[in-house]
Amino acid sequence: MKAQHGEFIGPRAPFGYQKSSENPGQLVPDPVAAVIVRKIFEMAASGTGVTGIVRYLNDRSLPTPIQYARAHGLDGDFDDGIGSWNSRSVKYILTNRTYTGMLVQGKEKRAVEATHEPLVDSGTFDAIQKAFQARAYNVVPQGQSADNILKGKVICGCCGGKMQRKRGTGHADWHFFTCITKNRLGADKCTGMYAREEDVFNAIYRQLKDYVNERYITNSTYKQKIQEYAEQIADLTQRKTTAWINAMEHYEQYMQGEISKEEFRAVQDVANHAKEGLIQATESKDAYEKQYARFRKLLSASSKDIPLSEIVDCIDKVVVDSRGKIVAKWLMQW
Ligand SMILES: [Zn+2]
Repeated sequence: MKAQHGEFIGPRAPFGYQKSSENPGQLVPDPVAAVIVRKIFEMAASGTGVTGIVRYLNDRSLPTPIQYARAHGLDGDFDDGIGSWNSRSVKYILTNRTYTGMLVQGKEKRAVEATHEPLVDSGTFDAIQKAFQARAYNVVPQGQSADNILKGKVICGCCGGKMQRKRGTGHADWHFFTCITKNRLGADKCTGMYAREEDVFNAIYRQLKDYVNERYITNSTYKQKIQEYAEQIADLTQRKTTAWINAMEHYEQYMQGEISKEEFRAVQDVANHAKEGLIQATESKDAYEKQYARFRKLLSASSKDIPLSEIVDCIDKVVVDSRGKIVAKWLMQW
């Protein structure tokens, strides 16, 4: 009943608020945490992405909700991840309607007007939610949502079969992957597997982030390596030219009977060797350039600057297993 009348019933006030000392059912802004929450909304409203906000908060060592609660007497074993802000904790705040002055609580998750002071106006809050949806939609950019961009790549962890993409019911635009082996060949062949496309995409993005982080190539590393290759190639070009001039001279000598065939062969081998070395170095440089270009592309995709469909050729397969674990296997080994 209390919840329906806009009274806060949770054991702890949401980050940014505290329970009023006169009335524990009444939330009042926490002087310190409210500043952080307002800043988060302000940044999001002015177009800073979640990643940018996370960086801002961590750069300034601002306390996370758990850290702040701990510093204010919360005890218990709480999982606070690596102890810094992450996109989940920021997004949790940015999508919590409580900050508009509403209360969303109880089993039915009913939103009721409350009497507490908003930390963000509802217009701004709604605009941020819209931006989130637009961004989420970029996972499958316009015109592609109907396409199965992971076609043939989503694999059942139980039977190894390709999972089929199907349209979800009840909603206009969501899909899931399902293994049809169970229905086709019987339950002894497969227990049946299911994954929402959204979860598959999210898993890919999460793993793509790890993948590019583990193989991160900084701009300066790249430039330095390219410079090294260029120097090596210049050096080998010089050596090759010298070796070939030398070989041609020896060819003359060989033709005039001044040196033996074996002697000429030895000089010729040096020249061929130099040529091979140059080809190899040039190929290595090309390969490194390609690798870097691929890395940049994957990096852009991991931050959703380009859609997933543009790097789908880098995905070998995505395996869905019975515990809901979704593992992407990448095609490039570097
Ligand atoms: Zn299966």
